[in-house]
Amino acid sequence: MDLKDFKVLISEDQIEKRLCELAEQIEKDYEGKEITVICVMRGACFFTVNLTLKIKNPIKFEFIQLSSYEDKTESSGKVRIVNDLRSSIEGKDVLIIEDIIDTGRTMDFLVAYLKHKKPNSLKICTLADKPERRVIEVNADYVGFTVPNKFIIGYGFDFDNKYRNLPYIACLDE
Ligand code: 5GP
Repeated sequence: MDLKDFKVLISEDQIEKRLCELAEQIEKDYEGKEITVICVMRGACFFTVNLTLKIKNPIKFEFIQLSSYEDKTESSGKVRIVNDLRSSIEGKDVLIIEDIIDTGRTMDFLVAYLKHKKPNSLKICTLADKPERRVIEVNADYVGFTVPNKFIIGYGFDFDNKYRNLPYIACLDE
């Protein structure tokens, strides 16, 4: 697979516009509060940076890295922590920022893991949602785009750790 096998699904302009809308909604919901953002590495990095630059609330950043597809297009179904949080989130208003909720396994695991750490509140913001693929029920509080059941790359999404830096989201042209 290389770039010629993909077509643009969500343009740079569409992403920019949607990020503004999400930032406005998040600012409203967290009015007067500090937010502890947990960026799920590596896919959500681009989304986290560009979204949070538009949010005026004070934000503390944490990062967690979970196992992902690596060089495959199918999930192994197993989730494990590769790099853990550095600080306590007890009593914090935590917003998880993820790239995509696909089967829901990763988010289900992460929410259960973080709840044990007793945050004051825990919400989920995902750039993309692929509801057709869900095997575990997970609902995000903020969804950038609902996407079809196709493999996507760009704007943080990789194939074989490449293409993350495309400024748009593309899907396999099948
Ligand atoms: P889950 O199936 O557990 O909901 O999603 C696990 C992870 O699979 C996501 O965080 C994301 O990194 C990856 N993933 C799911 N769908 C896609 C996709 O279409 N493209 C890419 N590049 N990664 C995906």
